Amino acid sequence: MTDPFFPPRCPNRLCHKHRSPTPNFYWHRGAYIVACRAEPIPRFRCKSCRRSFSRQTFRLDRWDKRPDRNVELFLLLTSGVGLRQCARTLGMGTAAVQQKFRKLARNLRLLNRNLLRQLPPNRCYLLDEIETFEQKSICPLTVPVLIEKESLAVIATDSAPIRRMTRRGSQRQRWMERHEKKHGRRKDHGRRCVRKIFGRFQRLLAGQKALLITDEKAIYRTLCRRLMGDRVQHLTYSSKLARTTFNPLFPINLTEAMLRDNLGRLRRRSWLVSKRGNRLSLQLEMFVAYRNWLRPRTNQGDPNLCPGMVLGIVLRRLEVGELLAWRQDWREYSIHPASSSAAETVRQQVA
Ligand SMILES: [Zn+2]
Repeated sequence: MTDPFFPPRCPNRLCHKHRSPTPNFYWHRGAYIVACRAEPIPRFRCKSCRRSFSRQTFRLDRWDKRPDRNVELFLLLTSGVGLRQCARTLGMGTAAVQQKFRKLARNLRLLNRNLLRQLPPNRCYLLDEIETFEQKSICPLTVPVLIEKESLAVIATDSAPIRRMTRRGSQRQRWMERHEKKHGRRKDHGRRCVRKIFGRFQRLLAGQKALLITDEKAIYRTLCRRLMGDRVQHLTYSSKLARTTFNPLFPINLTEAMLRDNLGRLRRRSWLVSKRGNRLSLQLEMFVAYRNWLRPRTNQGDPNLCPGMVLGIVLRRLEVGELLAWRQDWREYSIHPASSSAAETVRQQVA
């Protein structure tokens, strides 16, 4: 039995009941029955703009033909399974799975942005990059990952194409020359991508003090000094240190290993590869949602403690169904994922 539903606002962005809804801004207009739901779906009409809408208008699975597959698909895609294998397992077409993946991941990107609006002061953060590729190994991508040390929450991540020099006269260099002759010189947006991550870090910190730990790559030092000034203390350690639990970079190495395990397309020596870099960025957002709001912080600790709780953003671990419940495209006015009756917005809960 689902909770009773009360529309939190008029879904019409042009209606003034969208921004400032009053109680009873709507009329009840019966309900309709669909095959994939046990209960009828209530329908409403806005008293102000007269627009009709239903509970479905607020849900992520609106217009879905197979809403019952969303949870399973999310769990498979965050368990290292590729898109084609998901299609086989779920008995769906590959194109349908790809479309569903994009829809879920785009909404989860908004959800991550909506929930993570500010960072607590005086915490320690770690930044590192992993490398993978799109289509061919001569088309590398960089994936910068920024985490908070205590909670192990992923604060920001993205992917971008990079260009790597190959050994002169090698077979690989000839392969790259042939490829670039055909497709043009490969762009290198690695620096821009790291800058973007720093930009988001800066906005989330909002002038508070923090500590940042990275390896000795020169660009981290430059960007940290330029964007953060002396508010962020920056410590560097050699990436050649043994990768043990005593290594100061251990938490970020652990997160990267988890990423390679949970996202099949990041795995080394595997059939699975990203065909397009921007799809990797989308799946990274799926991982962030899974890591921050669902997966327990560690295997040894409290199984009901997720990174988002340690950061003080959510009060409990969210369920998969909750992550995929409400559309999140109204920023802080979106319905909070933990609010099953749709009564609370992200803004109310997070505040
Ligand atoms: Zn309206």
